[in-house]
Amino acid sequence: MTDARAVGLVFDDRYLTHNTGEYLIGYRTHYPFADPIPHPSSPAIAGRAKHLMDLYGISDAMTRITPCAADDEALLRSHTRRYLDHVHECDAVGGDTGIGAPIGRGGERIARLSAGGVMAAVDAVMTGEMNTAYALVRPPGHHAEADRGRGFCVYANVAVAARRAQARHGVERIAVVDWDVHHGNGTQDAFYDDPSVLFISLHQEQLFPVDSGMLDETGAGKGEGFNLNIPLPAGTGNAGYLAALDRVVIPVLRQYKPDLLIISAGQDASVFDPLGRMSVTTRGYRQMTERLLSVADDVAEGRLVVAQEGGYSETYAPYCSAAIAEALCPGHDGITPVEEPYGERAEIIRPSREVGLDTERALDEALANARRYWQI
Ligand SMILES: [Zn+2]
Repeated sequence: MTDARAVGLVFDDRYLTHNTGEYLIGYRTHYPFADPIPHPSSPAIAGRAKHLMDLYGISDAMTRITPCAADDEALLRSHTRRYLDHVHECDAVGGDTGIGAPIGRGGERIARLSAGGVMAAVDAVMTGEMNTAYALVRPPGHHAEADRGRGFCVYANVAVAARRAQARHGVERIAVVDWDVHHGNGTQDAFYDDPSVLFISLHQEQLFPVDSGMLDETGAGKGEGFNLNIPLPAGTGNAGYLAALDRVVIPVLRQYKPDLLIISAGQDASVFDPLGRMSVTTRGYRQMTERLLSVADDVAEGRLVVAQEGGYSETYAPYCSAAIAEALCPGHDGITPVEEPYGERAEIIRPSREVGLDTERALDEALANARRYWQI
């Protein structure tokens, strides 16, 4: 395995202590008879993903990277001082950092370790210490806005890490591909008028936030054309996602030629996710990773960072994450291929094999939209 690439893994047990409490979806005001359920952002999911990486020999092929807590300087590139102070206040007893982004007591430090984890992955890749890295962090980041947390996300991990890459490593062009089933509104906001970061989001149309992620949100000022949304209809599976990559995302990336590619990797587009209605399987996640790794090899000297976002199936999301990690490690000895826990049934479903008519229409629209700015 002399030619195998160096792959980093950011993980820290403290990520598993991020406490999101109980959950009362649908009951916005207190309803005394509601039966609370555990919050969908369960620490068990990241823990199981790591355990599967151990089980299949993947983490042995990776080099552990220890995250540091993101400091004020790093966070203030993407957040307001007032928001940092608010998170600090929540830290004392626990509370909501914004809209549906709770932390428990002591949660501020864990959120800083999460942003710092993606920063550490970017540092390792930009210094050449690693070729690629997977930041298996919690809490996620892509919904967090400058002045409030949102949708389980406290700090804008990927935006903070991208700004770090610019400030610390002088990176000129960064591309972020966000395949979380929800729209990456926070990352979009962070770079909306900025052509130095190309943001492309694939997501289930009008899922969350329900009013963002539309086709016509294409950036502003100098950033016009550097924000591409690809809203997809419910039910889109491996075939539709791979077609979106092949027809739109990858041609744009090859033209933009980023120096660094970051994937906002949410495994909540999986076929078993309770918060999404997409149909991606472990094979889909593996193949999407392979596709983007190949692009990174061609245009960015292999510099690829995978940052964990959502993914809420306690049984299935960990397998998807493990399949992604496996795909980052081609040529390494001692890795057993990650199994598809649902066997052949996962491939029999039509969205695994065919691009549905609704998805074809959505892809045609996304391609036409991208062609307003890109020669693809
Ligand atoms: Zn999500």
